[in-house]
Amino acid sequence: MSIQKNPFPRKIKILDTVYKIKYHNTETLIMVVDDTKEESSVNGFVDFDTCTINIRTNGRPYSEIWSDIWHEIGHVIKSYFKIKMTDDLEELFMNLFTLGCNSVIMDNELKFDFSKKRRI
Ligand SMILES: [Zn+2]
Repeated sequence: MSIQKNPFPRKIKILDTVYKIKYHNTETLIMVVDDTKEESSVNGFVDFDTCTINIRTNGRPYSEIWSDIWHEIGHVIKSYFKIKMTDDLEELFMNLFTLGCNSVIMDNELKFDFSKKRRI
């Protein structure tokens, strides 16, 4: 297994806000829940106060990293549109929806051209 230079984006604009993406090459990544101050070990989380998405790398496959990035982007979109759901449902929805989207992108090796100048 070779470990290469991190090719993932360092910042990403989601709707009206640019989020930093920080990568943690660590065995564990700890998220502290705002309300309860409870700590949990995760592969990614969003810090809404600093507009930062945190992702654990540590030799994990690219496909998993992208799934986690999409997952966290999903949380940001849900928050932006103030969609109401319980924490458990939000987590389940993000896992399944972003897993589905990521698999479509990967399995079809989709590359997007969003040029506004090009027309068909
Ligand atoms: Zn989540």
